[in-house]
Amino acid sequence: MDKENKYLSSDELLEKIFYYMQRLFEEKELSSTLVLLTDLGRTLVNSDRASFWFWDKKKHQVWTLAALEIGKITIPEGSGLIGASIQNNEVLIINDPYNDSRFNSDVDKNSGYVTKSILTLPVTNADGVVIGAYQAINKLDAEGKDAAFTEADIKRLTLATAFCGRTLESYLLYNEALEDQLTGLKNRRGLYSHYEKNIVPILSSKKASLIICDIDHFKKVNDTWGHNAGDAVLKHVANLYSSLAGIDDGVFRWGGEEFILLLPGKDLEEARAFAEQCRQNVEASVCKFEDLEIKVTMSFGVSELNADMTTEENVKSADEKLYYAKEHGRNRVIHILPE
Ligand code: GH3
Ligand code: MG
Ligand code: MG
Repeated sequence: MDKENKYLSSDELLEKIFYYMQRLFEEKELSSTLVLLTDLGRTLVNSDRASFWFWDKKKHQVWTLAALEIGKITIPEGSGLIGASIQNNEVLIINDPYNDSRFNSDVDKNSGYVTKSILTLPVTNADGVVIGAYQAINKLDAEGKDAAFTEADIKRLTLATAFCGRTLESYLLYNEALEDQLTGLKNRRGLYSHYEKNIVPILSSKKASLIICDIDHFKKVNDTWGHNAGDAVLKHVANLYSSLAGIDDGVFRWGGEEFILLLPGKDLEEARAFAEQCRQNVEASVCKFEDLEIKVTMSFGVSELNADMTTEENVKSADEKLYYAKEHGRNRVIHILPE
């Protein structure tokens, strides 16, 4: 059979692309969009499996953002064929993976799957900087039998990887705008986005609470030890809250030296107890900056979220308690305002 027959005809190819484009326009969620794009790539090259990998440069890891047929996988950066493709910005076609030292056969060993051919392409942003990789596994011919990847597959996959790159890049830029550069926590915009996405949908069936807290006499830290010491304290507190927060909790830098914690599943009393734990942790901790050891305390306001109130109104309710805590000696948790 002529090799070209193994591929879709131009008309069929266009039809497929239009089909996916139509669905992509309707899709708003990043993860579903990337799954669609990954599936587009798999269809274009007719492979059995496909996955899209994100290079998390902060964590020095590469992990699957979208993987068809397999669960999420995380690998150290630079390892395996994905790592090699990313590191060298290089397209790799391996039609005999078990004889390639870079191939990690552990996944096969654990799953019983047999990898026979691999095509890996780096995914770049608009500036040509590598941000991830796309991998197609086990090329099939028109009859569904094992085949080998060729140059023609690279051309076809380039289309899907270009879309993956642009989609991921716009998502990363969007997320950057929701992040506070100093502490790495989500900022005020990040809180609104998180609230709409993760809190509003659960409020009809579950309790949730909000803690707002503020460093006591923080101006003194700046005045005594300088602005950089103040920044170090902000980072110290942010790290402390991140380590205390549960997997579903949200930690945000609301502004200056004010932080908010969103606690799905916690009622007022549970949130009060958690705020008290946070208060004690802050009080007991020491922020080391240069040769200084800086100690601070914080004041807390706690409210259970009211589904009938807006985000602002819910924040305001906790903020009034924080104000009361400040007025009544600081370094304390207020969850009920006296009549
Ligand atoms: P209170 O106990 O009433 O909260 O007193 P306070 O001194 O903490 O509050 P105040 O609002 O008077 O001062 C807050 C200070 O926080 C003033 C501002 O310069 C400082 N600040 C805000 N953002 C930052 C920042 O990013 N870095 C540093 N170092 N300081 C900041
Ligand atoms: Mg303060
Ligand atoms: Mg303040």
